[in-house]
Amino acid sequence: MKDLPPLRDIIKRHGLSASKALGQNFLLDGQLLDRIARVPGPLKGERVYEVGPGPGGLTRALVSAGAFVTAVERDRRCLPALDELSEAAPGQLQVIEGDALAIDEAQIAGEGAHVVANLPYNVGTALFVRWLGGDEWPPWWKSLTLMFQQEVAERIVAKPGSGTYGRLSVLAQWRSEAKLAMKVHRSAFVPPPKVMSAVVHIVPKDAPAGVSAANLERITAAAFGQRRKMLRQSLKGLPGALEALEQLGIDSERRAETLGVEEFVAIARTISA
Ligand code: SAM
Repeated sequence: MKDLPPLRDIIKRHGLSASKALGQNFLLDGQLLDRIARVPGPLKGERVYEVGPGPGGLTRALVSAGAFVTAVERDRRCLPALDELSEAAPGQLQVIEGDALAIDEAQIAGEGAHVVANLPYNVGTALFVRWLGGDEWPPWWKSLTLMFQQEVAERIVAKPGSGTYGRLSVLAQWRSEAKLAMKVHRSAFVPPPKVMSAVVHIVPKDAPAGVSAANLERITAAAFGQRRKMLRQSLKGLPGALEALEQLGIDSERRAETLGVEEFVAIARTISA
């Protein structure tokens, strides 16, 4: 790839003042961006789907690692900056102007793409829940490498019994391996957000048989929606749930945060059956 100007110059030249409404906190440190781009493993010749490339810092790191990147950006002010990057790495970057929430990413990124993104916080959780949902498994993506607020990242990888264990932990772990890959200090961003961030890495594994993802989502939403309540209270509105607890020998006086991921899976399977 031919030499590109520093990201600060790109931001200045294209007038990319950070928009709060679009969740814009840019990363400019090339070494840090290279470290994030290494989280999914070697990317030479791999396809990558990036949400929100902004001025293109992470995109540069991905392209330099040899990936073929499809990126979706909502802010059209960023497009000329991304065009420069595209010209510097012919054939390696396709940029689509649009809203990642409204796009069929399996269609545009293709089966087997790695998803790598410094997500806009306002849409991050919605995209994450969508990527982890659905009954098609393995999914279209090969891995997810995603920047979240550290508190959200900790919820994703949390284990039962911890205060951060909840719906996101079960959705991320019942048919994927989820790990916290690195923490990123708030001062690494321009402008710095109020809180610390962290990158999570998710790889799909075999899905347990006979479980509907929609059922599991309903159960975790109900159970953790009233996490201080006993299961017999929080699950009583879900048809078949209390019977499933009894059948499985799960004490209905327990609270959601004490149930392992496998126990949620077993409840969903019993209800599906
Ligand atoms: N990837 C860049 C980086 O690491 O410096 C920018 C990350 S910034 C946290 C989030 C980016 O997502 C911004 O460029 C913002 O314009 C873009 N964005 C916000 N909402 C979006 C949406 N719904 N669809 C696509 N991109 C979006």
